[in-house]
Amino acid sequence: MTTSPSDHTSPAARTSLIGRTALVTGATSGIGRATALALAARGAHVIVSGRDTTRGNATVAAIRDAGGRGDFAAADLTDAASARALAERARELGGGHVDVLVNSAGIFPFGPTAATTPEEVEGVLAVNVTAPYFLVAALAPAMAERGHGAIVNVTTMVAEFGAAGMGLYGASKAALVLLTKSWAAEFGPAGVRVNAVSPGPTRTEGTAAMGEALDQLAAAGPAGRPGRPEEMAEAIVFLASDAAAFVHGAILPVDGGRTAV
Ligand code: NAP
Repeated sequence: MTTSPSDHTSPAARTSLIGRTALVTGATSGIGRATALALAARGAHVIVSGRDTTRGNATVAAIRDAGGRGDFAAADLTDAASARALAERARELGGGHVDVLVNSAGIFPFGPTAATTPEEVEGVLAVNVTAPYFLVAALAPAMAERGHGAIVNVTTMVAEFGAAGMGLYGASKAALVLLTKSWAAEFGPAGVRVNAVSPGPTRTEGTAAMGEALDQLAAAGPAGRPGRPEEMAEAIVFLASDAAAFVHGAILPVDGGRTAV
């Protein structure tokens, strides 16, 4: 049975992550970095991961400057072996346990189907599906043994509807959407909650090159603007915390309402 916070616990205590270790992939940039900072601000010891050591160390420095705990674990997440190695390193750095996993690392090359190479297809599936799959495989069983844990996957609104040139990316994230629900079914009974945040267009280093196209993509939603990484991070922190104790297998749109209308 899933553990639940006491009725007498204060709201602040329910969002506190003191004593938890959180591994955040893609934490050298954008949504992952904002999430790492937000989790650390709630008291989590955050294992910051990404490929770029300079930017990884910068995220850790920002966490520590704000009085939090963070460490960098470099990883090029392309296959099962790299995911397993990162899980092991995170466990070591985290004092033997990882309580929260945020799968934010992702790549999103857009383009016509006929111009896409087999290597590009394999590359997108490797980072967006294979790596989260084997991180969960490596970390969720230990969370289940301890009877608690939270996993938050970062998907996308274009996993929900067809968009020209975004099929490969959207399909990879649609796989992550289904995995989120499957893992909720598999690990939820042992106290491990698995959920996802589905961002709309968000200004990050990764989308900087899109310029005004990002505004146009966002304009169709009620909010009428792109999101900020910090707005994604707040939703991720909620799902990672005990405030979301009864939330399993949810795909939370944080897209300015774009998929609602
Ligand atoms: P970003 O600024 O481009 O950052 C991507 C992160 O993923 C970086 O930290 C990068 O690490 C890491 N990464 C990429 N390839 C990797 C690999 N092979 N191994 C390990 N790490 C790797 O992206 P973002 O905009 O913040 O997006 C974050 C997540 O949100 C992605 O999953 C994306 O699909 C999703 N999303 C974004 C938007 C948006 O509009 N921004 C919308 C919907 C969903 P290094 O830089 O250190 O290599």
